[in-house]
Amino acid sequence: MAEKRKFARKYCKYCEAKVEYIDYKDAKILRHSLSERYKIMPRRLTGNCKRHQEMVELAIKRARATAVIPYIIDTQKVVAVPFEQLQQ
Ligand SMILES: [Zn+2]
Repeated sequence: MAEKRKFARKYCKYCEAKVEYIDYKDAKILRHSLSERYKIMPRRLTGNCKRHQEMVELAIKRARATAVIPYIIDTQKVVAVPFEQLQQ
């Protein structure tokens, strides 16, 4: 049975870009390894090598703690106007 491939080819984007250190303040770089809901993408989907995946993990966890990126995005619970709830 043919395997469904979400990503075209497996290669480490960080190795290609010759990234030696991933800055947790750079949300753009971290975005490569985050899903649309800002979860860390598993290595089997992104094709990151182990070394870079560990760097990404650490950077993402630091970025979350410093509020550079959110912990979770729940579209169900997102309130359009947050002040409406306060007035009730
Ligand atoms: Zn790599």
